Amino acid sequence: MKTLFNIDISKISKIKRNDPCWCGSGKKYKKCHLDRERQTEKSNFHAASNFENSKRKLCAMSDSYLNECAGKIIKAHTVSKSSSLKTIARNSHIYSMSKIANEILTNDGQFVPKLVGINVASTFTGFCQKHDRDLFSPIENKRFSWEMEQVLLVAYRGLAYEWYAKSMLLEQEEYFKSLDAGKPLYTQIEIQKMMSDLFIGTKIALEEINQIKSKFEIYLKEKDFSQINYVGFEFKEPLPVMGSGGFTPVYDLTGKKIQDLSNLNVAAETIFYSSFASENKGVFCMVWINEVSTAAKQFAESLTELNDTEIANAIISTLFANCENIYLSPDWWDKLPKEVQKYLINIFKDSVSIDTNIRNYKIADVVDATASLRLSNL
Ligand SMILES: [Zn+2]
Ligand SMILES: [Zn+2]
Repeated sequence: MKTLFNIDISKISKIKRNDPCWCGSGKKYKKCHLDRERQTEKSNFHAASNFENSKRKLCAMSDSYLNECAGKIIKAHTVSKSSSLKTIARNSHIYSMSKIANEILTNDGQFVPKLVGINVASTFTGFCQKHDRDLFSPIENKRFSWEMEQVLLVAYRGLAYEWYAKSMLLEQEEYFKSLDAGKPLYTQIEIQKMMSDLFIGTKIALEEINQIKSKFEIYLKEKDFSQINYVGFEFKEPLPVMGSGGFTPVYDLTGKKIQDLSNLNVAAETIFYSSFASENKGVFCMVWINEVSTAAKQFAESLTELNDTEIANAIISTLFANCENIYLSPDWWDKLPKEVQKYLINIFKDSVSIDTNIRNYKIADVVDATASLRLSNL
């Protein structure tokens, strides 16, 4: 992404107290960056915990066409606890990657997946009781059998998570932009530049997500699935990596570049994914809107062209390289060779870091699973 933030250091010393601040906040200099280097530094722990504590409760459907909200906002799981997370848990705990994503944003240290209880893992306060219960009933109370409504609902839940996460991040804009307190001027400029890119990118992404969200809600209401493309796979056993959300692939699995995210005027193509378990089988599903799609389709085809024995490895590598909201089987992760763990952490860090220079990744050999069923409406 091109930076939209340009600042000439030599001009900063000439700014008067009542002039607009150089950082673009719109505040007066005296109320913003004047003397910021003398303020108390914020610790990274503080940054991460502030993000956690800020979690606001709001229903993704509060202004949608699908009836009015009712009941309080609940902790909704992005991946079902009893049918999915339980199957890969150890003593009711799994490793959460989303937990460390926030820290990567504000820290440059070493990262290890964190054990989290399955009651809280993968939850977000993004649905009211009524919508969580009624809307997702076809996937919560019925066997997953690849009905189009089920496929779209699984994708919608991932979309709602992305909508929620980005809405929450935007609410933290002012806080993130104050992380340069106590730092020298050149670091302040670096941080403001980084945050400017991050929040411009997030605003654009949220607009795009809002558009897809409205479309998905119309499709669900009218039970019209003609605009939806999907590919899906089943495995005899649950995959050791589960999660749900959306991603904008830059490369396909052969390493070919399929879209350029640096042009902010072109809407990025997003794929909504879900990796979960149903009746002790592993299920992976990718969904996108077919009206404009070329990148999403190309990515999906590079996955379907693989052999049954390669699919699960490609899925897991893709989840690490593109997706933030993912959860790992502790038994599986702990047995991986150290260099493989390191590789997966690195491609995960690349994808969640503010540096949007997305790199290509290779399929890592991490699991012995064969696709037992393939589905698609391509
Ligand atoms: Zn400022
Ligand atoms: Zn609601």
